[in-house]
Order: sequence, then C-alpha cells, then structure tokens
Amino acid sequence: MKVCKFGGSSLANAAQVNKVLDIVLADPARRIVVVSAPGKRHPGDTKVTDLLIELAETALKGENTDRQYGAVVERYAEIAQTLNLGEAIVRTIELDITDRIAKVASLERDEFMDLMKAAGEDNSAKIVAAAFCARGKKARYVSPRDTGMVLTGRFGDATLDPCSYATLARAFSGFAGIVVYPGFFGYTKEGKVATFPRGGSDITGSILAAAVCADVYENFTDVDSVYPVDPRIVPEVKGGIQTMTYREMRELAYAGFGVFADEAVIPAVRARIPINIRNTNHPGEPGTMIQQTRRVVPGTIVGIAAADGFCNIVVEKYLMNREVGFGRRLLQVLENEGIAYEHMPSGVDSQCIVVKGQCLPKGKEHKVVQAIRRELNPDFVSVERDISILMVVGEGMCYTAGMLAKACLALASVGISVSMVNQGSSEVSFMLAIRSQDRETAVRALYKTFFG
Ligand code: ASP
Repeated sequence: MKVCKFGGSSLANAAQVNKVLDIVLADPARRIVVVSAPGKRHPGDTKVTDLLIELAETALKGENTDRQYGAVVERYAEIAQTLNLGEAIVRTIELDITDRIAKVASLERDEFMDLMKAAGEDNSAKIVAAAFCARGKKARYVSPRDTGMVLTGRFGDATLDPCSYATLARAFSGFAGIVVYPGFFGYTKEGKVATFPRGGSDITGSILAAAVCADVYENFTDVDSVYPVDPRIVPEVKGGIQTMTYREMRELAYAGFGVFADEAVIPAVRARIPINIRNTNHPGEPGTMIQQTRRVVPGTIVGIAAADGFCNIVVEKYLMNREVGFGRRLLQVLENEGIAYEHMPSGVDSQCIVVKGQCLPKGKEHKVVQAIRRELNPDFVSVERDISILMVVGEGMCYTAGMLAKACLALASVGISVSMVNQGSSEVSFMLAIRSQDRETAVRALYKTFFG
C-alpha cells in the first residue's frame, strides 16, 4: 500500500485536482491520499491557509468577516463548480466555515486559530473525495477525529501522541477503497482541533505511512526531484537526485534544502518507510527516492547545501587542553541561556562554538560573553557574526581520499578562505564555514568541482 500526500500547489484549482485523481487512479496501491489546503494558483495568489488566518484575525478583532469569508468560500466553490460536483458540497463548506467562525467567543485565541486553519485541509479533503466519487470511484473523506489522530503540546505547534499509531493502524485496516484524509491537524484528548506547525501536512502523511506500514510514502509537490544544489544559486543545475539515504536528506535539509522540513518525515524515517518526492505536474518522472541505504559510488557526493545566519563564539586559553572540565563548563554557560549549539570545531588552545544567530541576539551575546569570562577565565573571547556554513554531503565520501581537499581547492580557486572545518567520523558530510558574503560564489565553485 502507498500513502500519497499532495501539497497545496497540487490542489490549487480544478485542473490540479484532476491531475491528483489521475495519479491516484493510475496505481491501485495508492489507497491513502493526504491533502493540503489549496495553495497558490499563480505567484501573486494567496494560499487558503493564509486566507483563513486573515479571516480568524478579523473575527478575533470582532470586525465584519464577510470579505475574508467570501474569499475562502470562493476558492472551494471555483474548484467544485469547475469539476461539476454540485452545489451541496459548496453549502457544506459554507456551513462548516460559518460554524467555526461562530466559536470565536468560546475559545482561547490559539485554539480558535487552529480551528480556523484546519478548515483549509478539512474542506480540501471533502472536495477531493467528492471528485473521486463524481468519477464513479469508491472513495471517502475520513476525519482525523474518527481515526484517533491525537495531538498534544501547544496549539499551532502540536505533536503526535505516540499512542495514536496503534489506533490509526486499527482504523485504517477497516477501510476499503480510497481514503482521502486531511493533513495538518488532529484532535487533542479533550476533542479540540490542534494543528502541526505550518507545512504540517507532510507530517500527517508521514505518520499515516508509519502507522499502516506503507510500502512507500509518496510526497507529491511541484518539483521533478530534489536537486543536488539550490537551483536559485545554480540555475543550470541538471540531473535531480535519484536516490539518497535518510542521513543524506537530514544533512542537506539541515543546511536549508527546502523540499520539506526534516522533522516532518521523522515518523516515516523511524519506521524505515521509503519516501518518494514526486511532481504532480510530471507524474512520469520517477522523482527522488529517500531510503535507509543506497548503492554508493565512491568519490561522489549527493548534494551541496548552504545556510546563512550562523555565528561563532571563539574562546582561547593557553593550555586549554589540560584543563579538565573546560568544555563542560563552556557548554553549561550556553545551556543556562537555553542555547543549542550546531558545531564545535577546536584547536589546541581554542574552542569555537557555532550557534544559530537567532539564538544569540545582541542582548544575550553580552550575557554569554560575561558568563564565559567569569566561569572560564579565558585569554580571549569574542563572537563573530555573518557566517555561512556549507555542507558537502554524500555517503560515498568515506571510501575516497581527497574529498575535503577537492572542496577546499575549489574554494581557494575563487579566493574564498575557509574559517572552520568540521567532519564527523561517520563521514557522511563535512561542514565548511565561510563569510556570508561568499556563500553563492562558494556554492557555484563546489558545484562545478563535484558535478560540473
Ligand atoms: N496548509 C498548511 C500550510 O499552508 C499545511 C500544509 O500545507 O502542509 O502551512
């Protein structure tokens, strides 16, 4: 059985919904279809989720919501009418949204917001199920409420209650035909609607794939495959990635590969379900397969990612290496301030700690530097900002000497100096830190060397 998830661009209008139906019906294994809310139809358009947020904000202010309500209903009505689904489904959606708005006075702000946001996916699933039925196919809308998708944590940032897996597995074993399931939300134990973070339909798909032990989790979006480098930086990039491992995906997503949030697919990864990224607009393309292992060609890499906005806390002290507990006390300072660190390259008498810039705003920086001086009595401490990190990723690199040398030579050839290097013994990637202003030139140079 395959679980397939379709993102907002795949459901933006009737033509896209028709593509979704064709894809699902082309393979009888595609039995569970997870849908997002309708996304943008063209670059200047607004996603239905954003329209719903605007509608919710207006209702919370106690203002007239007619315009925002009309904009939401209009999106569904356009799809339903073009697909000849009849007026009844549009009335159902109108009623659903009106009912939700009416709850504004009885719910906390965050609860109300989630209730409204969830309407996007919920009604999208109803439309898609109706569209299958209109083609004479056996399909049904199934609610997260009826299948035991129980969420905990904060509204708008909820997580799955792990007990849900067993309930979900039982619920799905009883369904025949195609199940159309709304992504992005579930219910708390108290029966309140709660949503995952934005983009959370990927999480729903991944959870269902794990719950039913799917053969594959197909994630349909609007790209043919994952590219080895950001096409905005290297527009001429050719040849998408055919297969990559979970570890490679994690390393690339960490440094900004934006196909999906790395956390979104944790349930599928833990259950070792292969993930196939595919394009709704080119269903003939095989897409990118992400799985536990792959055949590796020594000396090759799978991708290059780059991310901005890091900073580096540099601490120097003569004979640091002999001071027992130095590292622990240094990290304790960060822990006391609630700061997670990313990398920790070191020299004999120096220790660098790379953290995300947003975790160390100017006010906190002063506090951290003072605490390091107090606790460790260093010879020197400073914070460098505007650092970018480059991740060169590939399981194949551990079998070949000179991969790091090749990367450093490529950067040297365009006059870029590397300020830090970090490579774990798993050798699935290495990290190079450079100045942010050099990021794009660096990525192009690395691409040319490894893929050109
Ligand atoms: N519709 C939600 C969003 O725009 C969730 C999703 O599409 O995955 O964030």
